[in-house]
Amino acid sequence: MFDWVIVGAGFAGATLAERIATQRDEKVLVIDRRPHIGGNAYDRYNDDGLLIHQYGPHIFHTNSQMIFDHLSQFTEWRKYEHKVRGIVDGMEVPIPINLDTINKLYNLNLTSEELPAWFAARAEHPAEIKTSEDVVVSVVGRELYEKFFQGYTRKQWAMDPSELDKSVTARVPTRTNRDDRYFTDEFQYMPKNGYTRMFEKMLDHPNIKVMTQTDYADIRNEVTFKRLIWTGPVDEYFNFRHGKLPYRSLKFRHETVDQEQVLPVGTVNYPQTEAFTRVSEYKHMTGQVHPKTALTWEYPSAEGDPYYPIPRPENAALYKKYERLAMATPNVWFVGRLATYRYYNMDQVTGQALATFRRIQEALPIESNVIELTPRIVAAE
Ligand code: FAD
Ligand code: UDP
Repeated sequence: MFDWVIVGAGFAGATLAERIATQRDEKVLVIDRRPHIGGNAYDRYNDDGLLIHQYGPHIFHTNSQMIFDHLSQFTEWRKYEHKVRGIVDGMEVPIPINLDTINKLYNLNLTSEELPAWFAARAEHPAEIKTSEDVVVSVVGRELYEKFFQGYTRKQWAMDPSELDKSVTARVPTRTNRDDRYFTDEFQYMPKNGYTRMFEKMLDHPNIKVMTQTDYADIRNEVTFKRLIWTGPVDEYFNFRHGKLPYRSLKFRHETVDQEQVLPVGTVNYPQTEAFTRVSEYKHMTGQVHPKTALTWEYPSAEGDPYYPIPRPENAALYKKYERLAMATPNVWFVGRLATYRYYNMDQVTGQALATFRRIQEALPIESNVIELTPRIVAAE
């Protein structure tokens, strides 16, 4: 008999399993249909002994001291600030677009003081900034939008940026200085021994049992439990009652190259050419020293595991229907990127899981009988 079954051993499931096991002293069964824990953040050593991310490059970054401190219980960290270059018009330039990007691409010598006016002279002024096209053309104008965003987005989502919410391309800022970091968050680190080791530590508790290669459908009638946490796709839980929620997938091409380093930085994007969106080299992120190097190319795909919710109004409307069902389902909590249909990063999923735990604590105060009481009358010997 378990107090809880948690479906999914990624950031959402593992964070909640640890909290429930340690803070509520309740028994938890964590299952995942994949043959490993960690969800999409899973990493492993390949046949050449190089640490790779099975589901594409995962870089941890957050502005939340609370989330950073929470995860720091389960891992040490390695300082790492991710950098990205793009191949644009045959040149290799910094992404996000910054002062050096513009000067290199247009053979100019602008200063940080001059660049805002240069952008302003090209910016368009849509009546309302709603889509992923609006949010870019309103800052850098149409030419840079087409060079950096339109082709990449069409590949990644099989959709024009004008069909996607502004939140998608707004993830990538525009800078007028020379800062070439992909993220500017206060905390930018990689787990020192990898994500999988961090997950092992989170789940290593006598109250937690983990079963991989186990689908919820296989055990739902076999195991008795009181409550459920669902971190898989929300439409799957409800048997697609309102129709399928669209998710975007990727195919990963993992390769080892027999040289020490291939890319100048962690990731190189291809906004104009190639069928893949980007290629990443893990040694930049992991700091591993090895005579060979491992890379992953990402090919967007309609088929395959659900990796990305697709942010656009009709999908949000369909998700709302599932959210209403979820709210009306007692004893089941829906958490994570797939279960709440939100384009969340790892830190946001961790924050959502911790907030869910606080709500569980409010909704289900721990019964007095699980608190260890010291006997008030001690028998005389
Ligand atoms: P998941 O990690 O998807 O875990 C859900 C788990 O549930 C899965 O393992 C699945 O197998 C399991 N499951 C589903 N249904 C069932 C079922 N019926 N029975 C059993 N098991 C089931 N975030 C960042 O912060 N930085 C990055 O650099 C970054 N890069 C990314 C790159 C790519 C290519 C992708 C796809 C995502 C990236 N992310 C990144 C986002 C990050 O992967 C997610 O925020 C995070 O992993 C989500 O955790 P989760 O627990 O919600 O979901
Ligand atoms: N994007 C783009 N060109 C780039 C990088 C990003 O058009 O060179 C757009 C694209 O739509 C992408 C989105 O911005 O899906 C978010 O990029 P991010 O790197 O955050 O994507 P993720 O790492 O989540 O795949």
